Amino acid sequence: MTPIGYISTGPGNLAPTDLATALRAGLAPDGGLYVPDTLPHLTLDDFSGCHTLPQVAERLLRPFCAGSVLEHSLDAMCDEALDLPLPISTLDPAQSWMLELFHGPTAAFKDFAARFLATCLEHLRQAGEPVQTVLVATSGDTGAAVAAAFDQRPGFRVVILYPEGRVSPVQAHQLGAFGNNVHTFRVNGDFDDCQKLAKHTLNDPALVREYHLTSANSISLGRLLPQMAYYAWASLKLCAEQDLSSSAGVQLIVPTGNLGNALAAVLAREMGLPIGDIFLATNANRTLPDFFASGNYQGRPGMATLANAMDVGDPSNFDRLRWFYRDRDLRNAGLHADSISDDRIGQCIRRTLEQHDRIVCPHTACALEVLEQRRQAGDRRPFLIAATAHPAKFTEVVEPLLGRRPEPPPTLAELLRRPTRAETLQPEPAALQKALKRICQAV
Ligand SMILES: *Cc1c(COP(=O)(O)O)cnc(C)c1O
Repeated sequence: MTPIGYISTGPGNLAPTDLATALRAGLAPDGGLYVPDTLPHLTLDDFSGCHTLPQVAERLLRPFCAGSVLEHSLDAMCDEALDLPLPISTLDPAQSWMLELFHGPTAAFKDFAARFLATCLEHLRQAGEPVQTVLVATSGDTGAAVAAAFDQRPGFRVVILYPEGRVSPVQAHQLGAFGNNVHTFRVNGDFDDCQKLAKHTLNDPALVREYHLTSANSISLGRLLPQMAYYAWASLKLCAEQDLSSSAGVQLIVPTGNLGNALAAVLAREMGLPIGDIFLATNANRTLPDFFASGNYQGRPGMATLANAMDVGDPSNFDRLRWFYRDRDLRNAGLHADSISDDRIGQCIRRTLEQHDRIVCPHTACALEVLEQRRQAGDRRPFLIAATAHPAKFTEVVEPLLGRRPEPPPTLAELLRRPTRAETLQPEPAALQKALKRICQAV
């Protein structure tokens, strides 16, 4: 297999680099996002004998690892990182299913990708290399997934920055519940302040060298690639078991913020998996629906909604999406985007409990609401929606709507029983540097 090169979407016209470099760097040196220079194409036959998620992932990701040291450990990495429960539940009306991506250690879909990235970085470590510091700014779910993925992993420590008072109480507890090699900071500011602080520090070569910094944010290639695997696995499974036409495939609805999860679905389709139209379900942050309606992309500040993990006004993966469709019209690519207001999120959460005796998180509700709209418009095609988090992570939204508190799953309950600890931090680079110095020297 000829190795795939990894190029940047940025302005630097950089030569392609190899997978290991792209994975370790996070962001390309010209500030762009890494993308594979070609997308391999696979047929359904290529997946014969692949039944589990790790098996499908191994088959799907193998071409991306050709020529890399990771090629030889891919099998073991997929087994280690992706062997999480992944039920597909049946919804009403017929031909509607839900891919439950929230059964990992922190009860959100980000567990799959964070665990895969952590496994990659561990396999890329060289003997005698100093401890690496993973610096991550989070609006809630990312930080916990990254912390869980690196928790007690030798050779790594994690520094989490989260905006004080802007994450749910359950998320805040979770972020501070790891201890050991995970250091959690409550920043006096909003998510943008946290992100700026992380970026500023990661863009300073002297600091990166001194503290062996690396990032694990949502634009890392090591998070994008593994997310394709669950869409591949689910679409193959539905086609085989539900007798769907593999040429038409199953339509997907993906709750969308920074567009990482949905972009992975798009790439899986481009690689030949039986996926039809893809619907991006956003909350009241309408940047993507407005783009698909007008053709103009207009990034803007994010706005607070009930589905807070998607409060994004300028989705960081949009440049990647545009890059993959550079020769084609994105607005004519089997992609759709629909915005769901807080009112509709609330109605959907109530209706889903009444009609189906099931509690969903506000992000998943956005996708369910888009499904409801499709069905009302007479669309009878098979649909799979991505359920991105467990509702128990968002009790402050769900409980007032339902008068009932969703029970946390066992892994989340275990984290919530642990004590939690976070230090306060001013949103200033000097404050973070001081903290890094203390943490990194105290070994
Ligand atoms: C992160 C997150 C999203 C948005 O995913 P993107 O990849 O940023 O589009 C949706 N739902 C939940 C629960 C999340 O944590």
